[in-house]
Amino acid sequence: MIVVMKIGASKEAVLHVEKKVREMGFKPHPIYGTERTVVAAVGPGKKADLEALATLDGVEGVVPISKPYKLASREVKKETSVIDVREGAVKIGGKKIVVMAGPCSVEGKEQLVSTAKAVKKAGARMLRGGAWKPRTSPYDFQGMEAEGLELLAIAREETGLPVITEVMNACDIELIDRHADVFQVGARNVQNFGLLKELGQIKKPVFLKRGMATTIKEWLMSAEYVIAHGNPNVILCERGIRTFETSTRNTLDLNAVPVVREQTHLPIVVDPSHGTGHWQYVTPMALAAIAAGADGLMIEVHPDPERALSDGGQSLKFKRFEELMKQAAAVAKAVGREI
Ligand code: PEP
Ligand code: MN
Repeated sequence: MIVVMKIGASKEAVLHVEKKVREMGFKPHPIYGTERTVVAAVGPGKKADLEALATLDGVEGVVPISKPYKLASREVKKETSVIDVREGAVKIGGKKIVVMAGPCSVEGKEQLVSTAKAVKKAGARMLRGGAWKPRTSPYDFQGMEAEGLELLAIAREETGLPVITEVMNACDIELIDRHADVFQVGARNVQNFGLLKELGQIKKPVFLKRGMATTIKEWLMSAEYVIAHGNPNVILCERGIRTFETSTRNTLDLNAVPVVREQTHLPIVVDPSHGTGHWQYVTPMALAAIAAGADGLMIEVHPDPERALSDGGQSLKFKRFEELMKQAAAVAKAVGREI
């Protein structure tokens, strides 16, 4: 249920509603919109009790939330959430499209720092790079782990770009929190509910990739786990789903962009690198993602893709990334956005 506050309701009135909601056995989640505040009440309490709150000071009404994901639903917040990265240095979900780029894996200082500088020069506003890598084969490169994280911190220091990196285990959260700005949850962990609950305990944004076989509804339920456990800063990322098609690594489901836009207030980023698996398809699908309304792009870039330790075939060389950025700016302008 959501308790909708009147426009201009006082802070005290909101706090009073939260107290009452708690007394009724629900967890209150205040959501501050640009126009009005709503207090979502989720949990095991009796729904009928909540209706009595309609008479409280500052309350406009009490309405049910029809979707199974409650806090992620657009029903509780009409406008798209703008997620602050590194205290607002970068904002995801606003008019400006945020491009995050970098290598699939952190492989060494020179590789990472040179890539960070190149993507920054081309207009990327965040650096990506995996320190822990979820590989299908246990014999493939597993990532530089803590050492990789330190290199990401160096690249961040040298370029000023906020860093996004993948967390695979809850026990690494504290360490990653020291060096990175956004926690990526990879496609393979989107339904690792233990990990999602732990990420609900932190404040930094969680970048939740869609699983290769999760429906949009299941994906949004995963986002709900993080929000319900206390962290409202969730960014969604469409990265392709598995279909019968084998010409591409995955099938980039751009339908997800308008669907997500309609169903949730969370911002959506598209990753055409994993979505296609081939560098030559990355730019066309990046442009299509912007046209479809994506709030950001995640692009794999490597100084020497032929020698990359992971995902070289889908990584762009610096020059190609620069070209992608120029075209992306033109498409963004055409749809009333900026890069
Ligand atoms: C990645 O971003 O390098 C990655 C492993 O992505 P995904 O989880 O989408 O496969
Ligand atoms: Mn990759």
